[in-house]
Amino acid sequence: MRYEANRQPGRIPYFLCSAAFSTLPEPSTVVVMSQLSQTAIKEFKADFAGSVILPEDPQYDEVRQIWNAMIDRRPSMITRCTSPADVVHSLNFVRQHNLPFSIRGGGHNIAGNAVCDDGVMIDLSLMKKVDIDQELHRGYVEPGCTLADFDTAAQAHGLATPLAVCRIKGRESQKQRPFVGFSAG
Ligand SMILES: Cc1cc2nc3c(=O)[nH]c(=O)nc-3n(C[C@H](O)[C@H](O)[C@H](O)COP(=O)(O)OP(=O)(O)OC[C@H]3O[C@@H](n4cnc5c(N)ncnc54)[C@H](O)[C@@H]3O)c2cc1C
Repeated sequence: MRYEANRQPGRIPYFLCSAAFSTLPEPSTVVVMSQLSQTAIKEFKADFAGSVILPEDPQYDEVRQIWNAMIDRRPSMITRCTSPADVVHSLNFVRQHNLPFSIRGGGHNIAGNAVCDDGVMIDLSLMKKVDIDQELHRGYVEPGCTLADFDTAAQAHGLATPLAVCRIKGRESQKQRPFVGFSAG
């Protein structure tokens, strides 16, 4: 019934919407970030090695920007992670306070899912380490690593990888089978 009711030109069928948002907390249970106390943020910072960016900080607009410039969302807090411990700490924080959150890797997802409004943006874009095992022809990457970062590190070992055509894309796309790339053929 719901699907039929929403089946109008230009509308996304309800079941698609509910699938896309099924992992988010129910609206009634989400704490509005503005209600989060300064004490909670201070406590968070005490165990966080990276930097925490708030809307009043000068670098806020630059850090919330992603590849798709049409996306203009305003997270209430950005946690710029520098280690796996920072990521765990950020996730524990959003769980503990039941906050909406988004994950930013390379920031290239066209829908702009990397940035949320009035929630915590967990920013992994500073985590760019790439380790290449030359013998096994295998690379290990951190989640903020772009295809350009990976390609540069692999080429330093004389290795070429069939990646995608657009070198600013994040590591997310490396999980997909290479389908379009300079050397994919
Ligand atoms: C112009 C263009 C060209 C492209 N060309 C190619 C190509 O040639 N080859 C290719 O393989 N791909 C291509 N892509 C696809 C692109 O690589 C993917 O969008 C990829 O997922 C981007 O990775 P990222 O790390 O930059 O993601 P980001 O933009 O950083 O997004 C982070 C990811 O986390 C997810 N996420 C965020 N918050 C949550 C949450 N709360 N819960 C669960 N998940 C969450 C988002 O949905 C997103 O997938 C292209 C995209 C564009 C726009």
